[in-house]
Amino acid sequence: MAALERPVTSTMADKKQNADVLENRDSAGGGASGFFARMNSRGGAKPKNFVPLASSKAALELLQNFEESRRGWFWSTDSFGRVTYLSEAVCEALGQPHSELIGSIFMDLFGKDEEAEDNQRTLPFIFTKQSKFDDLALMAAGGEGEIWWAVSGRPFRNASGEFIGYRGSGVDITEQRRTVRDTSKLAKYDALTGLLNRYRMSKLLETTLSVFQTQKRPCAIMLIDLDRFKQVNDTLGHPVGDALLKQVAERLVKVVGDREKISRPGGDEFQIILQDVEDRGALGELAERIIKSLSQPYSVDGARCIIGASVGVAVSPFDGVTSEDLIRNADLALYAAKAGGRGRFRFYSRELLQVAEDRRILEEDLRDAIQKKELWVAYQPSVDVSTNQVSGFEALVRWNHPERGPISPAVFIPIAEEANLVGEIGEWVLREACMQAAKWPGKMIVAVNVSPIQFANDLLPKIVENALAASGLPPERLELELTEGVFLQESSGTDAMFKALKDLNVRLALDDFGTGYSSLGYLRTAPFDKIKIDQSFVRGVTEPGSRNGALISAIVTLGYALDMDVTAEGIESLDQLEMIRGLKVTYVQGYVYSPPIDNDKLLEKFESGEWVIEPSGPAVHRSDRISMFRKVGVVHDNHYYRVIMRNLSLSGALVEGILNVPTGTRFVLDLGDGQLAVSSVVRSKGHHQGLKFETPLVSDGNGSFCTSRRVPPYSLAAAGMPLDVLPPGYYDSINRPPPPKTVPQFSTTGDWKNA
Ligand code: C2E
Ligand code: MG
Ligand code: MG
Repeated sequence: MAALERPVTSTMADKKQNADVLENRDSAGGGASGFFARMNSRGGAKPKNFVPLASSKAALELLQNFEESRRGWFWSTDSFGRVTYLSEAVCEALGQPHSELIGSIFMDLFGKDEEAEDNQRTLPFIFTKQSKFDDLALMAAGGEGEIWWAVSGRPFRNASGEFIGYRGSGVDITEQRRTVRDTSKLAKYDALTGLLNRYRMSKLLETTLSVFQTQKRPCAIMLIDLDRFKQVNDTLGHPVGDALLKQVAERLVKVVGDREKISRPGGDEFQIILQDVEDRGALGELAERIIKSLSQPYSVDGARCIIGASVGVAVSPFDGVTSEDLIRNADLALYAAKAGGRGRFRFYSRELLQVAEDRRILEEDLRDAIQKKELWVAYQPSVDVSTNQVSGFEALVRWNHPERGPISPAVFIPIAEEANLVGEIGEWVLREACMQAAKWPGKMIVAVNVSPIQFANDLLPKIVENALAASGLPPERLELELTEGVFLQESSGTDAMFKALKDLNVRLALDDFGTGYSSLGYLRTAPFDKIKIDQSFVRGVTEPGSRNGALISAIVTLGYALDMDVTAEGIESLDQLEMIRGLKVTYVQGYVYSPPIDNDKLLEKFESGEWVIEPSGPAVHRSDRISMFRKVGVVHDNHYYRVIMRNLSLSGALVEGILNVPTGTRFVLDLGDGQLAVSSVVRSKGHHQGLKFETPLVSDGNGSFCTSRRVPPYSLAAAGMPLDVLPPGYYDSINRPPPPKTVPQFSTTGDWKNA
């Protein structure tokens, strides 16, 4: 026992004291004393040659052995709380020489820590009261790593009953505490990513919502699901999948900024709680940043992979006040985002309940749409901008649903991809397009879209070959449009497929360039004949300050350098066309020349063997305006008018149904579900009114717009809104006064007249 050999401190008095400590502890029990208690209790029948350890020397040796085993340590103080004895183990743990610690204040041996703080605070209190204590968990001050002890102590008095100090012991409990902490961490965090787990997240959401409901504060929840993660997991293996999930978690933390608000409830799903956030503009931006960040390529163990993400958002109290409702609705929104083509976000809206059901039915219907001849192919001309001459057509599949009318391929192709129907539909389109194109006059090229799922099918070259053979179309008149999705898994299969298709002598085009994961690397290696610049670049090109023009120009330069044609898609207005011409794009596809038309019309236009189209359309591109036929409400004075909304943009709407409204009239447009837009009439003709919104709308992530905030019923009431005129449903949670008996100022038209 090193400490006992030290001349300064290891007096016999000390040794005596230690023996006292021992004796005292034995009677008190607890802490390290249990060890001795057990030793002593091994009594029972004594063997004949039994000799008890009588001398204090022998007892000291025992103590010494115990101290050296590092299973426990001893300490004592004087009446001022200064250390008079300390086992060497503690000096080692604290990294300080024994000589320095002797005489120091006992309480200073222990450090401060969030968890230890309570105990730390208790110690002076105990010392002042001179009371005993058992197994107080204390953390070592200093030393390497975190060391924890369970410390016990007894006050000692001299013969006259005067307090002379403390004596006690301690044991190392670092390991136990670590285990306990790991277990509680396990119960709180997801072992793979270190994010909150499902249990903690649902607890956090529940408490947040119950507190926020009484405080009338909003809270948003975002559900994120990775697109194509399953493919990575299946093709590259689970360890790569796991490593990928970890990287996803880190990217999420970076974008969101608060690790404690993100969870991974399981699989490739993530959840984010956003307290006090209701602004859908801000939520949409965050969702977009998340999607963008998660869609950047990952490097895992030297393998490069690309996945995407879809996001569903629900905001309390508008979309649900219980955590169960909120999660279910965010989930519906997520499902809709995926159905809408992945890589998108969606806000929950009540229509989604219907959408989910519709989708299920659509999938059923799609299964036999081919047999029922509900599919047909439309053709959109691709025009040489320098001559306005049509150079070819893109085949675009159309579906005329017997009950619902035309359904966009942007809606049903993703469903077909998920339901494993895209191969069959794609093959049918290919055969149909080749068949019809073979009968066109001249040598027009026909372009056919090929889904990444078709591209991954080894039989694709054979299918293309058969379609060409059956129709007699020369291969150089067929162009296959591929999207960047075909590069998602970089494998030798991709190169082999490119080669097999090129060997057939067909042309290849890279569609929707700039939307996905645009890596210039594959433009260098993949044998494309054409790049098609995505509509989203064109859309903003005429807006002041837009950088799209510079990007298009760069893509054109790149195309020429690589000997590829460049087409710009989605040109609608004359100013856009002018701009695109200036940027030296060769071909243009867009409404400014022609929408997709059916084969009969195409043949009619082509009678002369060539077709020159004079561009026509709006002179100036207006901020995106969506045409629609949607029933909405208008509040004026104390009256609610039902009108039809014919178009909607970020800044305004055109409504139809109220007669002779003077310009300057202020309306509140009710877009449903708490979306109220204060607007003024800027144009008025007969029963049409052009409205301008006081606050612009924001993107709803699905090609339409929504109000940035929903108005909670209680603020409407506070603002003195004529609540009684609002339709039942959304505002039912508040008491409505009885409707006032006044005469509406305007009369209405149409069969959607006020009831
Ligand atoms: P895409 O291949 O990029 O086709 C261009 C889309 O832009 C077409 O939409 C076309 O009608 C539309 N468009 C053309 N000019 C304009 C314009 O000036 N303004 C606007 N706003 N849009 C314009 P569509 O026909 O609804 O097709 C949507 C997407 O569905 C296509 O995008 C393509 O990815 C997919 N698709 C269509 N047919 C097929 C098919 O047979 N097979 C596969 N796999 N996908 C198809
Ligand atoms: Mg296309
Ligand atoms: Mg395209």
